[in-house]
Amino acid sequence: MTTTIAFIGLGNMGGGMAANLVKNGYAVRAFDLSEDALAKAEAAGATRSTGAADAVAGADAVVTMLPAGKHVEAVYTNDVFGAAKPGALFLDCSTIDVATARRVIEAATAKGFEMVDAPVSGGIAAANGGTLTFMVGGEDAAFAKAKPILSAMGKAVIHAGGAGTGQGAKICNNMLLGATMVATCEAFAMAQKLGLDPQTFYDISSVSSGQSWSMTSYCPLPGVGPQTPADNDYQGGFAVALMLKDLKLATEAAASVNASVPMGNAAEALYQLLANKGEGGKDFSSIIKLLS
Ligand code: NAD
Repeated sequence: MTTTIAFIGLGNMGGGMAANLVKNGYAVRAFDLSEDALAKAEAAGATRSTGAADAVAGADAVVTMLPAGKHVEAVYTNDVFGAAKPGALFLDCSTIDVATARRVIEAATAKGFEMVDAPVSGGIAAANGGTLTFMVGGEDAAFAKAKPILSAMGKAVIHAGGAGTGQGAKICNNMLLGATMVATCEAFAMAQKLGLDPQTFYDISSVSSGQSWSMTSYCPLPGVGPQTPADNDYQGGFAVALMLKDLKLATEAAASVNASVPMGNAAEALYQLLANKGEGGKDFSSIIKLLS
């Protein structure tokens, strides 16, 4: 029997993810507040719903891909819990704060539903191409049920641990990414001031102990290393505003457990400065402009 999935939040990421569920044989009942997003989902083979509760009614699973914690909590509390059929599985793939993720999963569990937090690594191209990485928090049984659904949208599905640990993994990873990108940019800028050619510094550091993903897979300088957003005037890629969102979530989570994250705090302050200059839409490697 065909598995029916309610998909709520069909924006930049959710649109491609829902289309991949359709391609993999799932029946998708789509809802978004945006008419444009709904029309695209319909064109990709999903069935249009009139509201979140309408999408959820009768569905075997619910996938949400929404902007932030407040949207996720409102949609589950106001629409999903009341409309879902007994035994339906909930998967929230949005990037949200750990506290809200845990609270919503707890509320779902109290109502007898299984739920996982399953944020993603990978941008719009990976969502469209079905090559996302999912980091999943939740009970073993819920993870086992979620895995085939997530596998239809991604290349890797990793069980991080209990409720909220998917979000924990996501923000720790992105805090590391933000901090290493800042450090990589300041090293390139300083190397140039010390008289080094950027390509020469890359050739040395990329095979030395300063090497990182930010350097060799996402080099922030045009014409150096692989093709990256730097080669396209920092257009496309992973926006400064999204990096800032994740750094804010990371430092908020750090404060909640008394974790000391001075590098994460510094990266957040620098990305805030860049966003305040009106550069929120540029790729996050453009932080090099602040440091040159
Ligand atoms: P987006 O703004 O393009 O899409 C969000 C969609 O949710 C919009 O279409 C909006 O209309 C819809 N929406 C909001 N409230 C709703 C509601 N109450 N009911 C129904 N629909 C509602 O955002 P996005 O880029 O697709 O990101 C979604 C999530 O994925 C975010 O949490 C983001 O942090 C995360 N993420 C994004 C990227 C990326 O590169 N864009 C990468 C990794 C993770």
